[in-house]
Amino acid sequence: MKEEPKSFFIRTYGCQMNELDTEIMVGQLMQRGLKRVHEEELADLLIYNTCSIRDLAERKVMGKLGLLGKSKNKKQLIGVTGCMAVAKKEAIFKKLPHVDFVLGTNNIADLNEVLNDVIHTGKQTLRTDSAFEENLDYLIAEREDNLKAHVSIIRGCDKFCTYCVVPYTRGKEVSRPAVDIETEVRMLADKGYKEITLLGQNVNSYGKDKRESATLFHDLLYKLDKIEGIERIRFLTSHPVDITKELMFAIRDLPSVCEFVHFPIQAGSNRILKKMHRIYTREEYFEKVAMLKEIVPNASLGTDIIVGFPTETEEDFQETLDVFKKIPYSIAFVYTFSARQGTPALRWKDDVPEAVKEDRHQRLTALHTEQSIQERASLLGKPLEVLIEKCTETGQLKGRTRCWKKVVTEGPASLIGTLVHVTPHSFNHQTLIGTIV
Ligand code: SF4
Repeated sequence: MKEEPKSFFIRTYGCQMNELDTEIMVGQLMQRGLKRVHEEELADLLIYNTCSIRDLAERKVMGKLGLLGKSKNKKQLIGVTGCMAVAKKEAIFKKLPHVDFVLGTNNIADLNEVLNDVIHTGKQTLRTDSAFEENLDYLIAEREDNLKAHVSIIRGCDKFCTYCVVPYTRGKEVSRPAVDIETEVRMLADKGYKEITLLGQNVNSYGKDKRESATLFHDLLYKLDKIEGIERIRFLTSHPVDITKELMFAIRDLPSVCEFVHFPIQAGSNRILKKMHRIYTREEYFEKVAMLKEIVPNASLGTDIIVGFPTETEEDFQETLDVFKKIPYSIAFVYTFSARQGTPALRWKDDVPEAVKEDRHQRLTALHTEQSIQERASLLGKPLEVLIEKCTETGQLKGRTRCWKKVVTEGPASLIGTLVHVTPHSFNHQTLIGTIV
């Protein structure tokens, strides 16, 4: 037997899906009567919602959990959730015997049950199902932000890129019923939320696993756009293969849908794309981008890139640089390759030396930084729609444009939560600075 905890601390690593899962777990624990605290040493229950996507992320958590073993007080319970929980399963107990439970990404709904098991039996408990059951109560989520919310629309991924753990840690694609999504978004609108970001590993696959419901991703956008009070709809992430003309028309025609598409190419060389199992060529990718630009000329694009993938040569990397020269991305996340447990890429020799990976990372980042400066300069003098999100410590207003650019301006705090137009007159590192029109 262990004591029922009265307070909890939760730390999130990784992506927006994990942030949303954390918000749901916070809601579950608060309904159970636990109080959230923000210092580990004050909590009876500690939860680490982990990420497995990069080696560094995993090492950080394992290091942190290892240290906890030394400082943990006897009453404290420790849980590991998220992708690393699924990837490592029992191995976590072996390495970290002070961990009380391991809960997979598909078992978030079972948190209270697992906690009961640990409390009543005093034994370590593991629950990591490979498939997601549609029994998760999203409405319970406790969000810290009161203007912007993440909304899950599809979990899992069927694409099996050779470097990625997600299909193994989150399972196959399961779309959430459209009616449940609409209910959640209506509830958010009633609470005063202005912006939602629809989340999925591949939102463009939405509905394909539930043909009978006849709601594909663009259909969902048409439904959500009608909900009064929601000023902006964003979505993440779009696999290039699944983006459709219908979706592009929805971006063009629906007032609330922002003209920003996170559209990861991952590499510029066809040989590497094939090895990554991205199932498109660079030419096919360019075609999709050209189609999007024709239908939505003001669309901005984001991407993810992996440099130093096994066998990547300088010529392959030059093709990635060439993609950036042809498509100046608004946002680019550049990563160096590290093989993940359980993925096909682990079987290949990690043959690009670390120094070469680092050099490619720096060259690509430098090119992107230069392009970002040019992009920000091109926006000067043009009024941009900004959702004012908060006041900075120095009393300025801070917000974002439809295409995800940070903006600061002067104005009264009463503008928080409203859409204003700001004309930028200058910019610094990441932010446009302007005057309200
Ligand atoms: S599309 Fe590829 S990279 Fe993205 S989650 Fe699925 S397997 Fe991973």
